[in-house]
Amino acid sequence: MADQLVRATAAGGRIRAVGVLSTRLTDEARQRHKLSYVATAALGRTMAAGLLLASNMKQADARVNLRVQGDGPLGGILVDAGADGTVRGYVNNPEIELPPSARGKLDVGRAVGADGFLYVVKDLGYGYPFSGTTELVSGEIGDDVTHYLVTSEQIPSALVLGVFVGADGVEAAGGLLLQVMPGPDGEEDEELSAVLEKRIANLDGFTPMVRAGMRLPQMLEELLGDQDLQLLSDVQMVRFYCQCSAPRVLRALKMLGEEELLDMIEKDGGAEATCHFCNEVYQVEASQLEGLVDQIRAETEANSQS
Ligand code: ZN
Repeated sequence: MADQLVRATAAGGRIRAVGVLSTRLTDEARQRHKLSYVATAALGRTMAAGLLLASNMKQADARVNLRVQGDGPLGGILVDAGADGTVRGYVNNPEIELPPSARGKLDVGRAVGADGFLYVVKDLGYGYPFSGTTELVSGEIGDDVTHYLVTSEQIPSALVLGVFVGADGVEAAGGLLLQVMPGPDGEEDEELSAVLEKRIANLDGFTPMVRAGMRLPQMLEELLGDQDLQLLSDVQMVRFYCQCSAPRVLRALKMLGEEELLDMIEKDGGAEATCHFCNEVYQVEASQLEGLVDQIRAETEANSQS
C-alpha cells in the first residue's frame, strides 16, 4: 500500500476524522538516519502526528512543526510536516536502543522521557505562525499530542499512533485522529467526545489493523460507521521529502562570512555539510567556497560605494 492520507466527516460534520498510512516514509526515515528500533518508533509516531495535524490546514504551503523535548536518552525529536503531504524529521540520538517495555512493546516513553515539553508551531501560510507548548504526558507521543490538542487548541480529540518495526524494517506505521468540532454556538459535545475516546481506546492499536490487511477507509468505517460517516473522495499521497538542496547549502555557508570561509578553504580544502532533517551530505569544493568569498567581497564593495 502506498503511503496516504484519508479524510472524513461524521455526525453531520460534528466529527472530523483523518487517517494516515506512513509505513514507507517511516522506513525511509529509518534508513536515512540509521535509526534504532525505538528511535524509528518515536520518530515514526511523531511524523504521523505531524501529517495528521497538517491535514486540516487550508493553504497548500501551510506547515506544522512538532518538537518533542523529553528527558530521556533519545534527546529531542523534530518533525516538519506540510498540508501538501510532505514530512521530514530527525531525532538527536538515533542510535539509542532500549529493552522492550513490560507490555513487550518498543519503549518509546522511556526513550523520549515523560518530563519535558511538546512545542508546536503552525505556519498557516499567511506569515503569522501560531505556537503552543504543553507538558509531556508520557513521552509516548500519542498521549502527548492528544493533550496538546485538548488543552492548547481546545479541540476534543482522540488519537492513535503506531509503528511496527520488524527485522527487515518498518512493516506498518501511521495513525488515526478523531476530533469533535464545536457546535454552532461554540458548545462542546462532551458525550460525543467521550464516545470517540472510548472507541479509540478500545482499538488494539493502529499497526495490528494494518498488518491484518485493513485499509484506512475500513478503519474509519469500523470506528464511525454508525455515525453517518462520509469519506472525502480525495486520497492524498504522503511522502518523506526534504527541501534542502546544494544552492541552499551554499547560501547557508555564505552566512558564515568571509573569514570563516577562507579558513575552511585553507584548512579543509572545502566543506562538508549534513542536513539534519534528511541526513543528506553535501560536499562543497574549495572553488565553490572561493566563489562565495568573491560574492561577499563584491557585495561589501557595492555597499561601501552606495
Ligand atoms: Zn535535507
